[in-house]
Amino acid sequence: MNSDSVAMTDLFEKMHKPETVCIFGTGDFGRSLGLRLLQSGYSVVYGSRDPKNSLLLPKGSKVMTHAAAACEAHVVFVAVQREHYGFLSSLVSDLEGKVLVDVSNNLKRGLYPESNAEYLSRLVPGATVVKAFNTISAWALQSGGLDANRQVLLCGDRSDAKQQLMDIAQSLGFTAVDRGSLRVAADLEDLPLQLFPLWRLPLNIAICLTAFIFFYALTRDVIYERVTNGKDIAFRIMISLANKAFPIVSLVMLSLCYLPGAMAGFLQLYNGTKYRRFPDWLDRWMLCRKQLGLLALAFGFLHVLYTLVIPIRYYVRYRINVYTISLVKDNTTYEFDNTAAWRYDSYYSMGILGFGLFVLLGITSLPSVSNSLNWREFSFVQSKLGYITLLLCTAHTFLYGWDRFLKPSSYRWWTPPAYMLSLVVPCVVLILKLILITPCVDSKVTRIRQGWERQGKTLANGRDTKTNQPLMA
Ligand code: NAP
Repeated sequence: MNSDSVAMTDLFEKMHKPETVCIFGTGDFGRSLGLRLLQSGYSVVYGSRDPKNSLLLPKGSKVMTHAAAACEAHVVFVAVQREHYGFLSSLVSDLEGKVLVDVSNNLKRGLYPESNAEYLSRLVPGATVVKAFNTISAWALQSGGLDANRQVLLCGDRSDAKQQLMDIAQSLGFTAVDRGSLRVAADLEDLPLQLFPLWRLPLNIAICLTAFIFFYALTRDVIYERVTNGKDIAFRIMISLANKAFPIVSLVMLSLCYLPGAMAGFLQLYNGTKYRRFPDWLDRWMLCRKQLGLLALAFGFLHVLYTLVIPIRYYVRYRINVYTISLVKDNTTYEFDNTAAWRYDSYYSMGILGFGLFVLLGITSLPSVSNSLNWREFSFVQSKLGYITLLLCTAHTFLYGWDRFLKPSSYRWWTPPAYMLSLVVPCVVLILKLILITPCVDSKVTRIRQGWERQGKTLANGRDTKTNQPLMA
């Protein structure tokens, strides 16, 4: 072999030599990360306190002391709990110039005055610390990122180090998202501690509404019957009352998805600008609209299931039999009522169409579906079809009640039937929307949303000239 071909072979080997990554810690996270790195073509060395007794490590990896492992790679993942970072102070010289990746999380918020990543940076000042992978679980690493958790959020003070981590994350099949400097690390460390933050408000609304409607219906139906007629119809709690509460909660929550949008439109009209911040409560309400809608859909689904069992209920079959026998006994016929036929068919039809569109709204809110829609398609489905769904479901409820609101017997203990309560919020939302889509109002709102501002709302030192409040772009 001549010298040229030796040089070529060396170059080829250099180019194709897998990049080595070092991992301190052979626990759950370290092992899962190592396996994923090996599967993605990296070479992995572990740094461990006890290299001889390190078991269950992925095949193909090497294990050695921390100092020896650190010399093998430029990027070192610290897959050790923050409480044990102390051992790193003896490795300061070995880690000089390396990229140290802090993957740690804490058990509680505010446990330490500084973030784990900033603490690590203080312990090993010669290394560049990047916070990354802490929002990915060991299980997600092992399962190959097939779950929804595909984003690796990272932060750090040096862009070249962050770029190296982004390349690694991408080779592992994740999407890397740069969240800024190391000062953001505390926020990233808080993320895995959150428990369904956007679901809390919708869940509380759903629980409170269900409890209120259930006890309202219980008082009007079961307790009223017991007190005034001495009849025990408590068996109705299981299906009749549940099937009264679920559609009401569903309809009210669906309308609560659209109420903040309508209110925002009126606020913008009132302010004459879109550059004024909405109140915090409205911001928070708008942020959880998807969750409100999904919970409303779940309640709608329960209503459908409960309705399907009505014909096979013992009570219903009993009532039908008693009625038929009484007709036979009295030798009378059951007259066909054309109006009733129209009313019931329309009632069912509105319900089926409303529920069908509601399911479509739910499907389009799934990230895999919504990502395939452009903004116009998404807003068409969520806004236009959403309002049509609300209209159909409201019509379904109106047809259910029909002329019952005119009958004094419906107002037991001077309380209106529960279905009437459920119509209040949807009617308010539909009326507000109707006002917003009238051509003269709509053109004004559209201009405001395109950046137009009413005279006198223009910025003076970044403040509203009338109210002197700060304005926001
Ligand atoms: P783990 O199973 O408890 O493993 C931690 C490893 O740290 C041990 O296997 C041990 O490795 C090493 N270690 C323990 N005590 C030490 C000490 N006094 N000095 C030096 N090294 C010590 O923990 P883990 O679940 O792998 O988590 C590791 C880090 O990843 C944590 O900071 C955690 O917050 C973070 N994390 C974990 C997950 C997850 O799903 N598990 C997800 C995101 C982030 P050796 O015996 O080889 O030294």
